[in-house]
Amino acid sequence: MSTLTSFRDPELAKRLVNDIKKLHPPHKTVVCHVCGTHEWTVTHFGLRTLLPDLVEVIAGPGCPVCVLPAADIDVAVELALKGVTITTFGDVLRVPGSQSSLVEAKAQGGDVRVVYSIQNAVKMAKKEPDREFAFFAIGFETTAPLTANEVLKAPPNLSFLTSHRLIPPAMEFLLGVGDLQIDGFIAPGHVSTIIGLEPYRVFSEAYNMPVVVAGFEPIDVLIAVDMILRQTKKSEAKLENEYSRAVKPEGNLKALSLMAQAFNVVEGRWRGLGRLPQSALALKEEFVEQDALQKHHLRKKKGKDLLPGCQCHLVMIGKIKPSECPLFMETCNPNEPKGACMVSNEGTCRIWAQHGGTRIQ
Ligand code: SF4
Repeated sequence: MSTLTSFRDPELAKRLVNDIKKLHPPHKTVVCHVCGTHEWTVTHFGLRTLLPDLVEVIAGPGCPVCVLPAADIDVAVELALKGVTITTFGDVLRVPGSQSSLVEAKAQGGDVRVVYSIQNAVKMAKKEPDREFAFFAIGFETTAPLTANEVLKAPPNLSFLTSHRLIPPAMEFLLGVGDLQIDGFIAPGHVSTIIGLEPYRVFSEAYNMPVVVAGFEPIDVLIAVDMILRQTKKSEAKLENEYSRAVKPEGNLKALSLMAQAFNVVEGRWRGLGRLPQSALALKEEFVEQDALQKHHLRKKKGKDLLPGCQCHLVMIGKIKPSECPLFMETCNPNEPKGACMVSNEGTCRIWAQHGGTRIQ
């Protein structure tokens, strides 16, 4: 339940909610965001309870940890057990692979170290030049430039296991899921600071789909919903930027240039969703020495993304709510996650669990 008093500007929030109610869509209108931080804002501030019944906000695949395919975890585990020191972000350790996780690899004697930034991994590798390190690089367009920057100047004993994914192809994928019937997208503010507005233009121009790039305050999200409803009311499909205080139309040209120097855009597997065209970043051929798989002669095999009963593939596309998964807060909870969506603070199931969600009986 939301109380408007918890908003930084309760009066503005009240006006927006009233405005949204006045727009009163004649039929159910589904607004989809693709960002773990947006989901946190929506859930934490109880925005769904403020909106009219006919306006539904659903969460798409916007959590970088949740979308990591089991095959990528499997090769990280294999590398760790082969004696390569794996450095990565804390959340990644508990993501299930086909058979085990990096936490289990560590328990079996693998050297798996948590870092808070890629620079920590670089420092470690420089400090121990006789040891082989690999940085398990995950995230969307927001973190990919940081990886690219280090790839271009990495010490010889540091290689990269890259598992970066791109957001616009995931949005395009959602439009192909027939029964979702999305009416508008809220695009993620931080990804958009890097890529700018152009990559979203296809949605308004080719798919007739409103897109509003939004920031992360609850007011930002309410404004974005209001902007989308105004468009749908007039049967318009425009690309709008609610987050112009941070997002420039052209994005971050330096970051984009770094990405273009280090990576090719390729097809990529997303946990539970299969292979999406042009949705992942692979190191360019000239960085073969920095590619952990090539350097250590490993190949990704087809992994097993979902444990029996896990509904992450449906939660990640907003088709069901976490509370509709039979494992939610039964055998799967933040202390013992069974699916990837319960691991990270950006995962929809974990966010719902942390806000008192219970399973629908
Ligand atoms: Fe997957 Fe657990 Fe969420 Fe079910 S509750 S969808 S098993 S993460």
